[in-house]
Amino acid sequence: MKVELLPSSIPPTEAQFLVSFLVNDVVAFDAGPLGLMADLAKQERVRHVFLTHEHIDHIATLPILLENVYAPGPDCVELLGLADVLDFIHRDIFNGRVWPDFFELSTGDDRFVTGTPLVPLEPVERAGLTVTPLPVSHGVDTLGFLVDDGRSAVAFPSDTGPTDMLWTHLASAPRLDAVFLEVSFPDALADLATTTGHHCPASFAREIAKLDRDVRWIVVHRKARFAAEIARELAALGLPNVELVQPGVPYEF
Ligand SMILES: [Zn+2]
Ligand SMILES: [Zn+2]
Repeated sequence: MKVELLPSSIPPTEAQFLVSFLVNDVVAFDAGPLGLMADLAKQERVRHVFLTHEHIDHIATLPILLENVYAPGPDCVELLGLADVLDFIHRDIFNGRVWPDFFELSTGDDRFVTGTPLVPLEPVERAGLTVTPLPVSHGVDTLGFLVDDGRSAVAFPSDTGPTDMLWTHLASAPRLDAVFLEVSFPDALADLATTTGHHCPASFAREIAKLDRDVRWIVVHRKARFAAEIARELAALGLPNVELVQPGVPYEF
């Protein structure tokens, strides 16, 4: 399985402002910088976009992607997310004001987009991947995802603070190679992390202790202003198997 966290700065750097993971070039998890890939052929290969929640850093360029890849005909991008999230996106973005109503404009044989509601804990199969939606704890209803291709598996918990169902499920998953877990704030802002449903290094350390498995812990979602401080605090904890994500670098599992 190939996994890439798309870069979200211009020019590409380690700074992460937005969230979009691309798996095997055809399935995306969130649409932060997805519509900014300079190679349009790469955008056209993306057929399924799973959405974790409606926060703007996770959906920022979804309208641009759908505009970029539209071609007359029945084939279109499939959006998968909680029914409420699909509804928010329709009402608040594709509403004929902020952006054309691509849902309304889609007819049987000429489509811009199609939406598929996800139910927590009910896996779906897309492009050779089994994707299981797992609820996490982020203030708004948010799904993490377990992605398994039958040989390897990774988890994208998305934005979350301390949570439990996710770890219970991952503990019994048939395989698990890596978890892309967030740390948004430094320890000095632990209260803000708690209020907003995010992690700081101290809560990250408590959280990964909940999963008794030998996995790679790949840290994502460091707020750019605090990225260096978070990196120093994580290093000081000396946790095994913890690394910082490298945006734009494909991981193979
Ligand atoms: Zn969020
Ligand atoms: Zn976020």
